[in-house]
Amino acid sequence: MNAVDRRDFLRGAGFATAAAALPTEASAGIARPPKEISPQAVGMLYDSTLCIGCKACVAACKAANNMPPDIPQHLTDWNEDTWDTPEDLSGRTLNVIKVYRNGTAEQKDHEINGFAFVKRHCLHCVDPSCVSVCPVSAMQKDEVTGIVTHDPDRCIGCRYCVYGCPFGVPQFDFNNPLGKIAKCQFCSHLQKKGQIPACCDVCPTGASLFGPVKEIEQEIERRLTAAPGTPHEFPRGKIGENRPPNAATIPHYVKGIYGEHEAGGTQVRYLAGIPFPKLGLPTLGRQSPASLSEGMQHTLYHWLIAPVVAFLGFAFLARRNMAQHADDEAPKS
Ligand code: SF4
Ligand code: SF4
Ligand code: SF4
Repeated sequence: MNAVDRRDFLRGAGFATAAAALPTEASAGIARPPKEISPQAVGMLYDSTLCIGCKACVAACKAANNMPPDIPQHLTDWNEDTWDTPEDLSGRTLNVIKVYRNGTAEQKDHEINGFAFVKRHCLHCVDPSCVSVCPVSAMQKDEVTGIVTHDPDRCIGCRYCVYGCPFGVPQFDFNNPLGKIAKCQFCSHLQKKGQIPACCDVCPTGASLFGPVKEIEQEIERRLTAAPGTPHEFPRGKIGENRPPNAATIPHYVKGIYGEHEAGGTQVRYLAGIPFPKLGLPTLGRQSPASLSEGMQHTLYHWLIAPVVAFLGFAFLARRNMAQHADDEAPKS
């Protein structure tokens, strides 16, 4: 892709940003209809209140996806370059556990003087922007499972998906001389073999729970409608799987389910004990950026048809008149 193409795309991205900034009523008229979730979609429930920050999911993700260790420059002396210590998503890390801390950080899932964990990776959007902006279809969404995958053989390293994702998920590996995009593929290679995503498989508490989105939603409903302190058997691994559950009590959840509506909805949903923005999860509207930018593009193309037809008409007339003029000027025999 040459420089001009990139500039054109960035102008398009500007339209998407402008569309996102439009009032809801104005943008609703421009956006294309939102995409619907597949009835067979699979997803994940990450319940921050169950997470103990053990990072077994981070290690399992690395092993399952053959990712190298990630050691920030300022930690290389401390861990002698031997211990995988990712601090955020990167070209080497598809899944990371981050910590919220406030004041004395004594009580788990307390906003004041408390702490909480949050897991970050791809949310497998219902209407993914990364798929919409990818010029070579390297990002694809499976029509049945809804899993969003990345094909490195198609990828040209343009990084449009990096800028297009509202959750800041795809990462470019600047250490790789050939350039490479990295993002969680929901362990689709394991799912094809009948296994579940590695992070859910190893999670000891059920904080990361895999299953069909419909069943995830039912489990969320059970948790949110039960009174805090009610005994509950939290499933582990995969919903419906014959694994001993984590017997505990319903915690104090904050209102809402992150991922239910954000950016058109996602197949990974979050429950938490402190407000989602405090966990670093971006506050987003219900409209998917993809539906806005694609709707704007189609609207613009539609509006451009009349000027283009008029331009072609003028060009035809000008050419015909010039030919006529040349005929008149030509010496006659
Ligand atoms: S979270 Fe980002 S990378 Fe994942 S599907 Fe959504 S837009 Fe794509
Ligand atoms: S689903 Fe697989 S790739 Fe995604 S975060 Fe979990 S272990 Fe990593
Ligand atoms: S394995 Fe489970 S409990 Fe441990 S950090 Fe990951 S999500 Fe949290």
